[in-house]
Amino acid sequence: MPVNSAPTSPSSIQLSASSVTIQWNDGHRSVYSARQLRLRCPCAQCIDEWTGRLRLDPASVPADVYPVDQMPIGSYAVQFLWSDAHYTGLYTHKFLRGSCPCELCVVQSDAPSSP
Ligand SMILES: [Zn+2]
Ligand SMILES: [Zn+2]
Repeated sequence: MPVNSAPTSPSSIQLSASSVTIQWNDGHRSVYSARQLRLRCPCAQCIDEWTGRLRLDPASVPADVYPVDQMPIGSYAVQFLWSDAHYTGLYTHKFLRGSCPCELCVVQSDAPSSP
């Protein structure tokens, strides 16, 4: 269920050797594992556009992959440059916020019959 609220966007994005931290303009903070975010890259090389199947072999991504740089795309997405020289993924704000791994967001998202 989409939460009925104004679109949120990052007010700051911090990159570290193992994580990406996004401070949202509504005060929320999301801390993503760098490798998890890399593996969820939504670009056509990583995800089959037609079937939505993962084309990326997780084994091909270094265990210690980290974000080298990030660049805002318009007002709706962020592009990351990863240490494995991959940079074609556009992570929309909606996608990023929807992927927030914090307890609050995990509880809010429709988790079907989790124990
Ligand atoms: Zn990709
Ligand atoms: Zn969250």
